[in-house]
Amino acid sequence: MRAFDYTRASALPDAVAADAKLIAGGTNLLDLMKLEVETPDSLLDINRIGLDLIEPEGDGLRIGALVTNSDCAADPRIRKDWPLLSKAILAGASPQLRNKATTGGNLCQRTRCGYFMDNRSACNKRQPGSGCAAMGGFNRIHAILGASDACIATYPGDMAVALSALDAHVVIAGSGDARTVRVRDFHVLPGDKPQFENVLQKGEVITGVTLPAPVKGQHIYRKVRDRASYAFALLSVAAVIRMDQGRIAHAQLAFGSLAHKPWHDPRIEELLTGETPSTALFDKASDLLLENAQGHGANDFKIPLARRTLAAVLAEATGV
Ligand SMILES: Cc1cc2nc3c(=O)[nH]c(=O)nc-3n(C[C@H](O)[C@H](O)[C@H](O)COP(=O)(O)OP(=O)(O)OC[C@H]3O[C@@H](n4cnc5c(N)ncnc54)[C@H](O)[C@@H]3O)c2cc1C
Repeated sequence: MRAFDYTRASALPDAVAADAKLIAGGTNLLDLMKLEVETPDSLLDINRIGLDLIEPEGDGLRIGALVTNSDCAADPRIRKDWPLLSKAILAGASPQLRNKATTGGNLCQRTRCGYFMDNRSACNKRQPGSGCAAMGGFNRIHAILGASDACIATYPGDMAVALSALDAHVVIAGSGDARTVRVRDFHVLPGDKPQFENVLQKGEVITGVTLPAPVKGQHIYRKVRDRASYAFALLSVAAVIRMDQGRIAHAQLAFGSLAHKPWHDPRIEELLTGETPSTALFDKASDLLLENAQGHGANDFKIPLARRTLAAVLAEATGV
């Protein structure tokens, strides 16, 4: 690890427009610094700037950026009215990591692509223009949707997939007025600039996430992974489905670890809403999801796996 300066911020204005890399729980950043994938000269610790409360906002909730994943998952309001979020967080990492990991840091966690995390490999994300060793390499965990010739990495987190399904917003402070971005628009596809993973601009700080009013229905987070605990998703499905008189009255869905961002396709929700559930309908939903799916060799299995996982989630939610 390279030497760096360390400063502790005491209030949000210290952090906004700071000429330093922000550190919250440090569970992702410090690992990347040890690997010298990230080499900041200065770290600004934002753990003591407040932003560690979960408060009502309208019919929903505002979760401060420094709320830990453990506190968020355990919050009685979230467990009762937004259980999808609680389930997704608890499916991630380990209790020790969740005790440190924060809402803001979780959203900004970087890909687990082995070539990104290895300084000796070609990686357009780490070193623009150097190539993509994952293309034609060991790409079992990589993207099947929305990838580009420059990058096939995935966003690996669980929490943001639930937030995308719930249509939560990210609140961002910068030098001007605070701005709000849907979680669905916060992360970006790689295109020819995979070094950019989200819409945060230099000097901006995430101050929180807002949850809209609760949606009644079955809240399901299904994470498929290599072992039962302490593993990143090969893929995940987050769903809120409400049935009414044998029909799907409401559907919100998002998918994890299939792309450079949590994947949300409104066409799937439109297709399902108002319909009588059936395996044929679930197949059509998968057809939409996987319309442009492309495997890269070792991750080809994700295409049929996504189909089966979506069908299983819809069957569980609808009782078919
Ligand atoms: C072994 C292991 C297993 C894991 N398994 C999972 C898993 O299964 N599922 C899962 O979802 N995650 C998993 N994780 C990832 C973990 O959830 C993240 O490391 C964690 O959420 C990051 O939060 P943090 O507060 O520690 O971020 P940090 O490491 O402090 O920061 C991460 C990034 O976010 C930026 N940042 C932090 N806060 C802000 C802010 N408020 N505004 C702007 N930028 C900010 C930092 O500058 C940095 O770039 C795992 C991690 C490890 C080490």
